[in-house]
Amino acid sequence: MLSVNLTHLIDDEKCYETVRQMRWERGVCCPKCQSLGVIKRGKDETQPARQRYQCKTCNTNFDDLTDTIFAGHHQPLRMWILCLYLMGLNLSNRQIAQELDLDKDVVQDMTTQLRAGIDQSKPEVNLLEFRLKKEKKAE
Ligand SMILES: [Zn+2]
Repeated sequence: MLSVNLTHLIDDEKCYETVRQMRWERGVCCPKCQSLGVIKRGKDETQPARQRYQCKTCNTNFDDLTDTIFAGHHQPLRMWILCLYLMGLNLSNRQIAQELDLDKDVVQDMTTQLRAGIDQSKPEVNLLEFRLKKEKKAE
């Protein structure tokens, strides 16, 4: 039987765009001082879709994933975004593990973290809120 690998269908640019929408609704904001005065500082060397920034107020350097649960993990961002998508379809951890070809324990850990919210500095920005907003926009 022909099978389509989901992870090949999704592009990194869209994944990073999704993260920006989830964490910075009002525009890119400094994770340290919350200033909106932020300039772009090129892209990550190894992940060309990952935008880097510098805060004009406190000079902090950060990027799309700074202070999110996606930073410091060995899973590529698209795995997380696909996991989020499959959670939205109400798939079980076991089914998600199958779709993404990951270990069930790894998926369990990812879904737990995704439910808690992607922005570690702002726990109130949670997944549910993001999904509600998306549904509202779609109306
Ligand atoms: Zn700042």
